[in-house]
Amino acid sequence: MKTKKFLLTDQQIPTQWYNVAADMPNKPLPPLDPRTRKPVTPEQMNMLFAEELVRQEFSQERFIDIPDEVRECYRIWRCSPLVRAYSLEKALDTPAHIYFKNESVSPAGSHKPNTALPQAYYNARQGIKHLTTETGGGQWGSAIALASQYFGLDLKVFMVKVSYQQKPYRKLLMNTWGAEVIPSPSTTTEAGRHALAADPDCSGNLGLAISEAVETAMQHPEDTRYCLGSVLNHVLLHQTVIGQEALVQMEMAGEEPDVVIGCFGGGSNFAGIGFPFLGRKFRKGGNTRIVAVEPASCPKLTRGEFQYDFGDVAGMTPMLPMYTLGHDFQPADIHAGGLRYHGAGSLVSQLLRDKLIEAVAVPQLETFSAGLLFARTEGIVPAPESTHAIAVAVREALKAKEEGRQRTILFNLSGHGLIDLYAYEQYFEGKLQDYNLTDAELHKTIDRLDKIIK
Ligand SMILES: *Cc1c(COP(=O)(O)O)cnc(C)c1O
Repeated sequence: MKTKKFLLTDQQIPTQWYNVAADMPNKPLPPLDPRTRKPVTPEQMNMLFAEELVRQEFSQERFIDIPDEVRECYRIWRCSPLVRAYSLEKALDTPAHIYFKNESVSPAGSHKPNTALPQAYYNARQGIKHLTTETGGGQWGSAIALASQYFGLDLKVFMVKVSYQQKPYRKLLMNTWGAEVIPSPSTTTEAGRHALAADPDCSGNLGLAISEAVETAMQHPEDTRYCLGSVLNHVLLHQTVIGQEALVQMEMAGEEPDVVIGCFGGGSNFAGIGFPFLGRKFRKGGNTRIVAVEPASCPKLTRGEFQYDFGDVAGMTPMLPMYTLGHDFQPADIHAGGLRYHGAGSLVSQLLRDKLIEAVAVPQLETFSAGLLFARTEGIVPAPESTHAIAVAVREALKAKEEGRQRTILFNLSGHGLIDLYAYEQYFEGKLQDYNLTDAELHKTIDRLDKIIK
């Protein structure tokens, strides 16, 4: 019998995270304080984030040690399997070899606990007692709830009100792991009260939820910090356990990927699978392509502009150098909620600008049909976000067939879709559609950016 799953032992959980900044030919530009337009100092960021996370945010060291306490909890589900998708290959009748790294096996069902655990750990080690964060669909909220529970922190999650009402299961998952979930806008903050005064029926948005979480953390600098599940350098760093394991597992399989694919929201799972392969390419050469996949309705990498922009809709965060659609861009209501973000983290943006990685945008219906094919061949129901990576893996496999060439394809299965079946129901009922962003819609927000980068 041919090997389907390439498995590592607990002892092979990586001992270090890989920091791509060390190997980049052009380092990312610094974050700016929006008022002074000067680089933000680590001291300023320490008010909001745990000190070690801020140190990692600015670090140029190639490898950063993973604390034993974090590796111990990684053991709950790591190392995650690398799987050869034989049945998908057969269905596509392709000569390509398709592999996926299965990050859906974590307790929260996605890659997000890879960073939630170290974030909670460093906060707890510093003596912090309370964390605040925001969540849209609830994937990040549930990952950080799990991690906060593990390290004895109290967690408040501001969940966008419309999701709070529509996605009761993720809220319950957060409650199960001991978190308090507050629908945003709430009356507990200035920002929330302000929004409710303007519109008592306000259904909320991610930017507003961020404002509430940040405000709550800032009120108690003595023992409260805020945390974030994507975009920032330290978050991408923590996710590199994915790609480091995959490097070893691909070696076990005796193959080298020609292309490594990850779906793209703020960049964390893409960086997680892609950066270790990119790092090897920087050091040892090779032709591996690293491809980020975004939704056609939110195409910051393929159609956005490289500019300084805010990380959040409300304009409260430092300004980051990023490919962006403008921080007040309102993406269409697609089901891959985790990919509806206006910008890309600064590491990924610089790499794209230097043409060291590639990006492609795919329409929603193609992603669901690829996701369904995957579920019906490989058995795992993918998260709507992850179906974007699957769609491009399928495109690559069909191209290999057309060219009559063997190619090796690796993609990251960032999560399962068992709590997203509503999206599949909509697809079955023919209620989903593609959203093709017009140039006019695109420029409505991009043209409003104040253009700092020449
Ligand atoms: C949050 C999420 C994403 C998007 O976030 P990234 O930071 O770009 O990885 C993708 N897939 C799943 C399953 C998620 O939960």
